[in-house]
Amino acid sequence: MIEAFPAPSIVPLEHILPDEPLLMMGAGPVPIPQKVAAANSIVINHLGETMNRVIEQVKDMSRYVFQTSSSHVMGVSGPGSAAMEMAIANLVTPGSRVLCITNGYFSQRLAEMARRVRAEPTILEAPRNERMSVEMVERELQRGQYDVVTLVQGETSNTVCNTSLDQIARTAKRYGCMVIVDAVCTLSTMPLEMDNWQVDAIITGGQKGLSSIPGVSLLAFSEEAWAKKIARREELPFHWCLDAQLADKFWNQKSYHYTAPVSGILALHEALRLVCEETLPQRFERHQRCSEALQAGIETMGLGLLVEKPHRLNSVVGIVVPDHVSADAVRAHMSKVHKVEISGAFGLNILRIGQMGEQSRAHNLFRTLHSLGSSMRAAGADIDLPSGMAELERKLSAPR
Ligand SMILES: *Cc1c(COP(=O)(O)O)cnc(C)c1O
Repeated sequence: MIEAFPAPSIVPLEHILPDEPLLMMGAGPVPIPQKVAAANSIVINHLGETMNRVIEQVKDMSRYVFQTSSSHVMGVSGPGSAAMEMAIANLVTPGSRVLCITNGYFSQRLAEMARRVRAEPTILEAPRNERMSVEMVERELQRGQYDVVTLVQGETSNTVCNTSLDQIARTAKRYGCMVIVDAVCTLSTMPLEMDNWQVDAIITGGQKGLSSIPGVSLLAFSEEAWAKKIARREELPFHWCLDAQLADKFWNQKSYHYTAPVSGILALHEALRLVCEETLPQRFERHQRCSEALQAGIETMGLGLLVEKPHRLNSVVGIVVPDHVSADAVRAHMSKVHKVEISGAFGLNILRIGQMGEQSRAHNLFRTLHSLGSSMRAAGADIDLPSGMAELERKLSAPR
């Protein structure tokens, strides 16, 4: 006989969640606007007239955000990594020669995914904590024969930005390569022009720059990638869920592939709408101003940033943890006392503060910087908190 569930071992969610929600200022997920949260609470039929209208708008707005006129914009049910895998699964075939430009953890993940579809990835590693240079890429493209080039725009793990992405993409195209760009952390926080820069696939997640929920992601294939690689493919991709031709049935032909993550798509619709309403130029300006003000505040407090200015990512700020200070103690103090959460890092002794979407708001910056400084002090660091806060205010209110 099946016994009753031992109920006392389970507590309701409100006993697990903190009484006061933490301000999410780490490397993602990020806070979501109320409109996005409200949309995420709705379930509708994933097929039919209502959904069709939603999907048409999601595609139109995505085209603006990706800066493309491609008709092959689609979503995927899954994390940013699922969108990465979808780009790889459809553009990389067994035996493909893939040049994987790496700066850190996420760019290496693209190489790992290429390996798993039986391609031959070659790693081209950027100097430590630096962006990849066009010259290094061109030298490698002259030396070897490649079908595909992969890279990240912003490497969230060590806070490096590949600022020469536009030139790298155009160079790779001159050598006949398909170019796959991971913009999970950067999309809508800084310029990225898919068509103009000649990118063949752009990947993003929901929970970072777009300030939507995790679990529903977007990607776009160029018309050229679709015509040359996807429409004319000889063998089916390994992954049924990630097959772009099957996904096209839902995203362009109003029919069934798998049950779409309706709530997440509605949330994404609202997140995209808020981006379009703000406009990309203003959104880029807000992110840059906020991130640079935060960086200045951190440095004025007496802390160092990991990455030198020319290579530095604005979407996630990497702070060097002073010797004899425990990063874990700082984070614990921040969340316990100030209800602010930031990120540690994979293997590096840094703390990371996100500047993606809703994180780039003045009120969030003041709370976060104060919390960081005061928790660093509590953990034994020598911190000039008032000067740091004053610098943040000075930079935020400086005339444009
Ligand atoms: C967060 C991130 C990913 C992975 O996204 P998930 O949703 O965690 O799968 C990939 N690339 C970059 C650059 C990221 O910042």
